[in-house]
Amino acid sequence: MLADQLQAMKRRALDEIRGTSADVKTSLQPQDHEVQSHADEAEAERLGDVRFAEIEIDRARLLDIEQAEQRMADGRYGVCADCGDAIPRERLLAQPAAIRCAACQTAAENKLRRP
Ligand SMILES: [Zn+2]
Repeated sequence: MLADQLQAMKRRALDEIRGTSADVKTSLQPQDHEVQSHADEAEAERLGDVRFAEIEIDRARLLDIEQAEQRMADGRYGVCADCGDAIPRERLLAQPAAIRCAACQTAAENKLRRP
């Protein structure tokens, strides 16, 4: 059942956001070391950036899942959000959170990438 899959995905995304946020908090805690080289600080900062980027990806994924759930509630699930064509079943099984057909998804991602 796709609805169950979506729920499981949502739980996983939420868990990851919580887990990653906890990591960030821990890594941002003041260190016990009295002396810390600039290299260490830069490394800690870089790691923090990477983790924040991961949270952003998880948030985006969660948003997709929530949109898919909303569409399911509206009875529009499995219909492309952009062109209105039916999304192939295999695509939904592989990506239950897909709200666009493959062609529109590619177009949307290309639009995002271009400033
Ligand atoms: Zn489409």
